[in-house]
Amino acid sequence: MGLIVQKFGGTSVGSVEKIRNVAVCVKEETERGNNVVVVVSAMGKSTDTLVNLAKEISAQPNKREMDMLLTTGEQVTIALLSMAINQQGLEAVSFTGWQAGITTEPIHGNARISNINTTAIERQLTAGKVVIVAGFQGVTEDGEITTLGRGGSDTTAVALAAALDADKCDIYTDVTGVFTTDPRYVKSARKLLSVSYDEMLELANLGAGVLHPRAVEFAKNYQVRVEVRSSIEKIEGTVIEEEAAMEQNLVVRGVAFEDEITKVTVLGLANSLTSLATIFTTLAQNQINVDIIIQSTTEGGTANLSFSIQTLELLETLKVLEDNKTELGYDQIDAENKLAKVSIVGSGMISNPGVAAKMFAVLAENQIQIKMVSTSEIKVSAVVEEKNMLKAVEALHEAFELANN
Ligand code: ADP
Ligand code: ASP
Ligand code: MG
Repeated sequence: MGLIVQKFGGTSVGSVEKIRNVAVCVKEETERGNNVVVVVSAMGKSTDTLVNLAKEISAQPNKREMDMLLTTGEQVTIALLSMAINQQGLEAVSFTGWQAGITTEPIHGNARISNINTTAIERQLTAGKVVIVAGFQGVTEDGEITTLGRGGSDTTAVALAAALDADKCDIYTDVTGVFTTDPRYVKSARKLLSVSYDEMLELANLGAGVLHPRAVEFAKNYQVRVEVRSSIEKIEGTVIEEEAAMEQNLVVRGVAFEDEITKVTVLGLANSLTSLATIFTTLAQNQINVDIIIQSTTEGGTANLSFSIQTLELLETLKVLEDNKTELGYDQIDAENKLAKVSIVGSGMISNPGVAAKMFAVLAENQIQIKMVSTSEIKVSAVVEEKNMLKAVEALHEAFELANN
């Protein structure tokens, strides 16, 4: 008997009717002779609704209470799905993250899973039950409830698949697989049959919201076979695996993008050996995630430093820099908002020089100014003005021959 972990996202459990469909999908999997563990998200946009409720009460709600609030969303779905599966004539049992044995680090809002004790789940599977686990949540060693970051139910599913040594983890969602770019914005986006772990990790980290980046990390580290597929259309999805087949020898596999980026520039930074270490250590200690970094020295012997952050973190970043002005030793801070990051990803880049050059040429032809650049072996990212983001994505998608013919 095999073991399959199935995960259904918010849109796939957005109504009672959809929850019934999920129950049917679970039943079909058991009829293929498999044990099934199901991970679900909160119904529809209910996590957003909860976030908005909290914002009505406080601009900066207490993070512990925020986790207490947000985890209720998934708890609604697990109970309803368990009832729906019972209606299908199967036995099911629902578990919160804590009951499922999911321990996380003691951080609220964006905790990493540190351990999974599968004893309770395995006991129920042995008893012939379908086990339903609330996605996106865990508990610290001290018994505090935590969440894994927005979109984190994917991570619950893949981490459980790894811990239970499942045969496969199916991520059911509102698209039929991973596309060359977000099909919601680019109509010519094409579904990929397979994507490598490394490519998917880059795509997810660079803004392709179809999979939570940490889910891909778990999949890669524990070699979990993941398939992203539609909860409505019963067709083959996209398999995430070690080495993706080189479809049509494409150098670039996909285009990812992310808006709400801000470029912060620190002018007149003392050009000492330790200035960079001090500034980035200070930001890290305040949980500020810095992405692209550019440094240049001026004739006067000081340095100008630019780095990109998510706009959401701008106020906190400015505060940290202001609070530490004397220690850091700089003249002035500038911030440029309304930027976006557009990235091309593909493992074929390793052996094909000129990919970055082509990307810059395409952006130039489209009169799109590049504000910052970063590269790795398998990706090139460019920061552009937000208003040019989709134009850049479409032009690159076309130029790298990713579009549907
Ligand atoms: P779920 O609620 O099932 O977790 P999400 O909204 O988190 O669903 O993820 C699915 C969405 O991801 C799609 O509706 C799509 O708009 C978006 N997306 C972004 N990039 C891609 C991509 N490259 N391929 C497919 N979907 C993508
Ligand atoms: N419900 C959570 C969210 O909306 C987790 C998830 O859907 O994966 O972010
Ligand atoms: Mg999601």
